Amino acid sequence: MVENKVVFITGAAQGIGYEIGEKFAAEGAKVVLTDLNEEGVKKAAETLAQNGQQTLGLKCDVTNEEELKNAIDETISHFGRLDILINNAGMQHVSPIEEFSTQRYELLVKIMLTAPFMAIKHVFPHMKKQGFGRIINMSSINGLIGFAGKAAYNSAKHGVIGLTKVAALEGAEQGITVNALCPGYVDTPLVRGQMQDLAKTRNVPLEKVLEEVIYPLVPQKRLLSVEEIADYAIFLSSDKARGVTGQAVVLDGGYTAQ
Ligand code: NAD
Repeated sequence: MVENKVVFITGAAQGIGYEIGEKFAAEGAKVVLTDLNEEGVKKAAETLAQNGQQTLGLKCDVTNEEELKNAIDETISHFGRLDILINNAGMQHVSPIEEFSTQRYELLVKIMLTAPFMAIKHVFPHMKKQGFGRIINMSSINGLIGFAGKAAYNSAKHGVIGLTKVAALEGAEQGITVNALCPGYVDTPLVRGQMQDLAKTRNVPLEKVLEEVIYPLVPQKRLLSVEEIADYAIFLSSDKARGVTGQAVVLDGGYTAQ
């Protein structure tokens, strides 16, 4: 569905971003992994390249517009095009509003809302010229409902759905679709790490924390797999989904149906 397409992914040294890259590579796409973590992203790109895929690993701090633009330009000059942009980089911080540092709030919003805006701004001229583009913004169930303690994360994830709609309208006549993915609890080191901390505090095994804290919240009683997220990103990038644009696509095991 994405053979020979060039996909640019932010925050892709690990986690969902990397796994999406791996899946796209397996489907024959040319994958550009970018991340703030230079060593991590170079290693990740080397791993993909070992499977014979055409890949690039670029250091790119998405909060730095010049670095972001340079990485986009380097992708276009290396592969001759850029078909799919996945704004994936993200970071969490949990704290009550009155204790939330304004500096940290601004940083998180910059990573998860301003950076997708800047990336879209710089890929749009190229995508409009080629008459094709797929943009996927990583939102979350935190983009649809509130979670106490997550002021910055929730604001950014809600905001990126608004940005998705505007960009979808502005690219609609030039063959560009723009959608947001809203995953629930995904089985990633990030989520497992948070649960592991809770398990340590409670002095119980990790599986018990999942059963007592997460599963009661999720109608399907499970964590989503990263493959499910990657498969959906591939579908949204394919020709089959050309009519889907401006949408917040939810993969949450029924969480927000409640
Ligand atoms: P992760 O922490 O494993 O990976 C995030 C990556 O983003 C890291 O490699 C990190 O280095 C990179 N990053 C952070 N700041 C950056 C910056 N300024 N510039 C460039 N890269 C930067 O997280 P993950 O779980 O894989 O999450 C990926 C995305 O999916 C995030 O946007 C997250 O909000 C979203 N999401 C995750 C879940 C989940 O359950 N894990 C659920 C819903 C949405």
